[in-house]
Amino acid sequence: MAQAPSRLAEARPVPHIVTELPGPRARAQIEFDHSVTSPSLPRAYPIVPVRGDGLAVEDVDGNLFLDFAAGIAVTSTGHSHPAVVARVQRQAENLLHFSASDFYLPIYADTCAELARISPFSGPVRVYLGNSGTEVVEAAIKLARYATKRPYVVAFLGAFHGRTYGSVSLTASKAKYHAGFGPLLPGVFHAPYGRVEDLRWFDEVLFEKLVPASEIAAIIVEPVQGEGGYLVPEDGFLQGLRRICDRHGILLIADEIQSGAGRSGKMWAIEHWGVEPDILLTAKGIASGLPLGAMIARAEIMTTWGPGAHGSTYGGNPLACAAALETITLLEGGLVENARLRGEQALAGLRPLRERFPGLVRDVRGLGLMLGVEFDTAEHAEAVQWAAFQRGLLVLECGVSTVRMSPALTVSEAEMATALRIFGEAVAEVAGENGRVLPDATDAEGMTGVEAAV
Ligand code: PLP
Repeated sequence: MAQAPSRLAEARPVPHIVTELPGPRARAQIEFDHSVTSPSLPRAYPIVPVRGDGLAVEDVDGNLFLDFAAGIAVTSTGHSHPAVVARVQRQAENLLHFSASDFYLPIYADTCAELARISPFSGPVRVYLGNSGTEVVEAAIKLARYATKRPYVVAFLGAFHGRTYGSVSLTASKAKYHAGFGPLLPGVFHAPYGRVEDLRWFDEVLFEKLVPASEIAAIIVEPVQGEGGYLVPEDGFLQGLRRICDRHGILLIADEIQSGAGRSGKMWAIEHWGVEPDILLTAKGIASGLPLGAMIARAEIMTTWGPGAHGSTYGGNPLACAAALETITLLEGGLVENARLRGEQALAGLRPLRERFPGLVRDVRGLGLMLGVEFDTAEHAEAVQWAAFQRGLLVLECGVSTVRMSPALTVSEAEMATALRIFGEAVAEVAGENGRVLPDATDAEGMTGVEAAV
């Protein structure tokens, strides 16, 4: 698919680094930032962006970066896609806010109808809109308990579902997300993720020794684990989960907040395995960067609850809905297919790293534009992330020792080739080729680089 040239890229190649990194303005901004912001924010490395266009991002010092992190897999149509910007501008001139929880906002219902149309359900669905991923995870926990009248929920080890109390209780990717916050939501169990043989845990451990299957409301699963390390489950795993749910009347919730909206090369990652969930959650890429989350549920489940059971002041805000409607048009207009093609290009380019750097590169995996390269240690993953940053390529750690690439779905063949070249150079530097020493990722204004965001 032909991509419009980026405005930022017209004058200069991307990436184009003109100062040391971080540059002088970036360092000053980081110092100011550290004086006013919550120290809980898990900053990965010192990029200080001011403008974006497509996959190009300019920082405060005039450095141009090639963005393969996309605001944690959010800017699915690239930074400030002109069609999305125009639609949001038009909407802003007409109506900024009018709570759809209490009144009848047309663009809210239109967005629900569009999400229903593109959702992977064979029967009728209803849609609830929130402002973020974690909000629709909360909505799903409430709906599952309400509809089934059952208390327990099962999530997976390695999962990330958010940071509010319900969702953080489902999250099991890093103990630090729970540290100091207990007690968490009771009634949550964590199953092993990914292998077909792991599914035996349900019968042999959960149902046999802990709680009867008849008391489980829902199993919530990321079809491809995101923060847990961009893990693609074995074929048969999701089908097996579906069978367990069917056997026991348990709802299957697909958390497609990171894997959905075309990123996997299909509109929804779960479609790669032909599995239909009962509830599907989307956020991140669905509105190109505006805050929107959606819970799409089979109509017979969603219609169990009535007025007042759930709602939100801002959820389905008109600007976010406008961005989502335009994003869906762009996704269907070729971006999902582009994600598939560019994903194949990426895997073909990344796989040789395993042979070139045996020991250092443990695994190369992915689906569409969810691409993970696993290293032998967290320190090496962090060093590769830093070396890529120094060369102007933005990537982001996940899991224990994996570096993820999650570029906008607009990524061109040439941009992908550039990213693969730079990433290879970064790995080579960390491997000690070219006689270079390991970069010290801890020297940038107190940034440790170890705390990847999600
Ligand atoms: N679920 C998944 C799979 C995610 O990757 C994330 C965020 O990374 C969330 C839920 C939480 O989304 P948010 O940060 O919008 O609350």
